[in-house]
Amino acid sequence: MKTRTRLTILFTIITAAILLVFATIILVSARENREKEFYALLKKEAITKANLFFNAKVNSKTLQDIYKNNRATLNEVEVAIYKTSFQLLYHDAVDIDVVKETKPMINEIVRKGEIQFYQNDWQVIGMKYNFQEKEYVITAAAYDGFGYIKLDNLLKTCIIVFIISILILYITGHFFSKKAFEPIVKMTSKAKKISATNLDLRLDINQSKDEISELAATFNKMLNRLENSFDSQKQFVSNISHELRTPLSAIIAELELSTNKERKIEEYKIVISNTLQDAKKIAKLSNSLLDLAKANYDPSEITFKQIRIDEVLLDAQQQVQKSNPNYNVAIHFENNFEDDDQITVNGNEYLLKVAFVNLFENGCKFSESKQSKVLISFKKEAIILQFYDNGIGILEEDLKHIFKPFYRGSNKIYADGNGIGLSLTQKIILLHKGTISVLSDKKSGTIFTVELYHDTKATID
Ligand code: ADP
Repeated sequence: MKTRTRLTILFTIITAAILLVFATIILVSARENREKEFYALLKKEAITKANLFFNAKVNSKTLQDIYKNNRATLNEVEVAIYKTSFQLLYHDAVDIDVVKETKPMINEIVRKGEIQFYQNDWQVIGMKYNFQEKEYVITAAAYDGFGYIKLDNLLKTCIIVFIISILILYITGHFFSKKAFEPIVKMTSKAKKISATNLDLRLDINQSKDEISELAATFNKMLNRLENSFDSQKQFVSNISHELRTPLSAIIAELELSTNKERKIEEYKIVISNTLQDAKKIAKLSNSLLDLAKANYDPSEITFKQIRIDEVLLDAQQQVQKSNPNYNVAIHFENNFEDDDQITVNGNEYLLKVAFVNLFENGCKFSESKQSKVLISFKKEAIILQFYDNGIGILEEDLKHIFKPFYRGSNKIYADGNGIGLSLTQKIILLHKGTISVLSDKKSGTIFTVELYHDTKATID
């Protein structure tokens, strides 16, 4: 069921329930009022007749005639007057005799002073009456025909008004909910048109600052982010294929050339060495992409444990020097650490080593001396690692882009690479809730500062 219909029905049911309670209260109180008023009328009539009988000394025959005449047109009250000894003094119509008085009933009236009850639909009142210091008992009964007709009419009116109100409520509720949901219906039909091929489409936002426009604006912002990430995904894939194509084309060209005709052993050796280098480039790229994928995992899927940063740095140093014997990596401590906790962080050993290897390799490959150093210092809550070199430096305009995937600075001609290293390094450091920043100068070289905190909330084992 659509929310619109559900809301309309809910609104109608709630209002109907309120109307029902309201109508019930009115009907119940009308019933009670009718009953009370009619008992009061009975009492008044009984006293009037008793007064006529005792005070005005109107004889029984006249009173009975009046009663009979009135009965034809009105709901005349039938009155009977008794002595307390249950001796009948007067009766409007003995032949009709609605109230079948008994001795115990008369006694009860004498004892209580007044009683009220129903005999079939007739209301009856029994009361004491004093005349010349003597006690008498009067009973009066009548059927409140007008009262019941009035009640009946009220009930019918209530039912008709109730049904009409429910209909009006449902129709107006339906109309207003349709109006209220119109912008959402429009949004839905527009959103249905948005797909991967037209991510540039946006929802219409009206000027009023209501919740719907806010929702549309938020949705549009989400589409902006989606479009951006979609574009960067596309860019990423095209960068990967480009990075793969270059060494692969070189390998194919070299091998084709060497198979064209018979060549000397030395020439074959050169071809093999060149293709080996290109194959290594491809292997490096695929390793970097694999690491990038790992760094992009959900942190909850990565194993974190307490690791000593100096040990990871030593591992990284060995790896760099083993794969590049001409590189020189040095590790220095600015100040001594007091206990192991100071050099320990909660992290993933493999990923941190990947990050440090990238920083060491960059330092070496972008400097003439092929040297890179790291200086370890301590703050109360963090370990600070400064990776520095005396290399060629990074241009000011490149600095803000170097952490983007596949970005290579204007100094790229100086060394081979694929532009993944720094973006991967930054991802790994952020995954460890750390920070990475860079300072560079053409003359003095480059410093990457990494801060790793002891108290990372990323502890997932
Ligand atoms: P790659 O080293 O494969 O080119 P990176 O992502 O590691 O890719 O680095 C991106 C760019 O940042 C490099 O192309 C280079 O221009 C610049 N860069 C990084 N580290 C240094 C450094 N130590 N000295 C000079 N330039 C650097």
